[in-house]
Amino acid sequence: MQILHPFSGSVEQYLAQLPDPDRHRPACCPQCRAGRPLSAHGFYTRTLADLAFDGTIRVRRYLCHCCRRTVSLLPDFALPCLRFSIAVISLWLLARLLPQSPNRPAPPPMPYQRGQFWLRRFRSRAPALCAELATLSAPAPAPDFLHRALAMLESAGWTRAHRFLFGDLRQHLLGWPPSLDPARRCLALLADAAPA
Ligand SMILES: [Zn+2]
Repeated sequence: MQILHPFSGSVEQYLAQLPDPDRHRPACCPQCRAGRPLSAHGFYTRTLADLAFDGTIRVRRYLCHCCRRTVSLLPDFALPCLRFSIAVISLWLLARLLPQSPNRPAPPPMPYQRGQFWLRRFRSRAPALCAELATLSAPAPAPDFLHRALAMLESAGWTRAHRFLFGDLRQHLLGWPPSLDPARRCLALLADAAPA
């Protein structure tokens, strides 16, 4: 099972604190709810492209001795199954959908097909996002679900929204890949899945 690492900072700061297993050790197992501390159980690696980082990061795993299942702590600047960080994807979507905001930082250059892939997924998710984010942000006046979801994410904060969506609702900001979505039966495999 994947849960989000309660961390806010740069990728470098995340990597610097990673060797200490006690720093963010879950107090109880999120799967069987056993109160026994989880044991550090190594790492898996995944790729990540952020605004100032493009490389491989380690993600810490813990083992529950009661249910014998593992829990991994994904840093909350990363999205499951996607190589690019929330910061990059959000800047790209904002630049594509709200290009009239000149003070916003420009997203890094992106191949057209990759950007269209994010846009298709975001467009498909927009109606559900508007409903899911209503507890974090008041629905904003907008001409369509796409722009309303964008405004709600801007109001709530993209990372905060991701924490809520993934942590509380087990939803992916851009929607789960089709192979994982129907019963989310493969959530446990996400820890091992290579980001796209
Ligand atoms: Zn357990």
